[in-house]
Amino acid sequence: MKIKEDIVDKEIISAVTDYRNFPMVPRVIYGRGSLGQLGDILLPKRRSTDAPFIFLVDDFFESDTFLRSLPLLFSDQVIYISANEEPKTSQVDALVNNIRESFDELPSGIVGIGGGTLLDISKAVAVMLGNRGRSEQYQGWDLVQRPGVYHVGIPTISGTGAEVSRTAVLLGPNKKLGINSDHTTFDQVVLDPDLLKTVPKEQWFYTGMDCFIHCVESLNGTYLNAFSQSYGEKSYELCKEVFLGDFSPKDSEEKLMMASWHGGMSIAYSQVGVAHAMSYGLSYVLGTKHGIGNCLVFQHLDAFYPEDVRLFKKMLQKHKITLPKNICSQLSKGAMQKMIAIALSMEPLWENALGKDWKSKISAERLESIYQKI
Ligand code: NAD
Ligand code: ZN
Repeated sequence: MKIKEDIVDKEIISAVTDYRNFPMVPRVIYGRGSLGQLGDILLPKRRSTDAPFIFLVDDFFESDTFLRSLPLLFSDQVIYISANEEPKTSQVDALVNNIRESFDELPSGIVGIGGGTLLDISKAVAVMLGNRGRSEQYQGWDLVQRPGVYHVGIPTISGTGAEVSRTAVLLGPNKKLGINSDHTTFDQVVLDPDLLKTVPKEQWFYTGMDCFIHCVESLNGTYLNAFSQSYGEKSYELCKEVFLGDFSPKDSEEKLMMASWHGGMSIAYSQVGVAHAMSYGLSYVLGTKHGIGNCLVFQHLDAFYPEDVRLFKKMLQKHKITLPKNICSQLSKGAMQKMIAIALSMEPLWENALGKDWKSKISAERLESIYQKI
């Protein structure tokens, strides 16, 4: 009898330890004009007058008017950063060194304002302020041992889900990979749809499609579960409303902001798939930005996601978006091989998309034939 109980206990324990215990953003404020409450949010988090808040802001917002909207106190610092290129580990390390050298105390916190690029840089800087070494050493899963400093994310474009995810995706010397850790997730997010109104149309489409593709890959993946499905379905419906419906710009901004949040929540407990794996290859070799890279790949994935590729083409048409062509046709053999190797190294993405025996279902030749069409 005793032996039997032990066996049952072990079964329960092993089942429980298979589940991943994810952090969620503990605090979020939503609404037009909610940026105006940032001062009140930061005040109790200020450790001393010598421990500033560092605002990392997309340089699109560099203006006196925007500066006046930030609740700056004491020695707070604003650093404007270009989002023209994907964030790099070297860039994060330089920012961290600069902040350490400029102040005697660790900052009270980091506030990231911008799209996925600025949000990821901010998460990585916050993590690295609490940890030793270089950020490339933390690219991977659960390599961060110690908490970083308090960090706030304020998205200004919708789609990546970076505001809610536990990763900060960086281009390192050897790989494009996130700092995936419990300490990466923002402590506070401010969702203010007013910040979205200046987003240019093409960028709106590309980053919005990142969200649509998150949902497609999550909902069609083998890792799908009720948790991911519930968020993924909501986000997918919102994307269809935004990109195929006829809502006012204000309604669309609000819907896409929430689609991004739900899309991020959906992949937190599942995974992305073929488009993301291949887009990572494009981005690593050619520096193609994430949103457009996903679109470039996704248009050719009818064999994997037939119905959604059809919807995607309808969205392209409705918004008169023309994707660039001949991106890969001139690539050297070596560059193509690197791209394929990077894509194939994204094992969990392939396993989610095609199942445990994914290696028997995809080949370097098949990837090359898709890349050649881009
Ligand atoms: P982005 O941050 O790269 O910005 C794209 C462009 O839009 C930039 O030129 C920027 O200046 C501009 N922009 C942003 N907000 C604007 C506004 N309100 N008005 C006018 N212009 C504005 O865009 P993104 O697509 O949000 O982010 C892409 C990055 O996100 C990639 O580096 C990718 O790796 C990362 N990403 C991260 C996650 C995650 O979970 N951490 C998920 C997906 C993608
Ligand atoms: Zn994505």
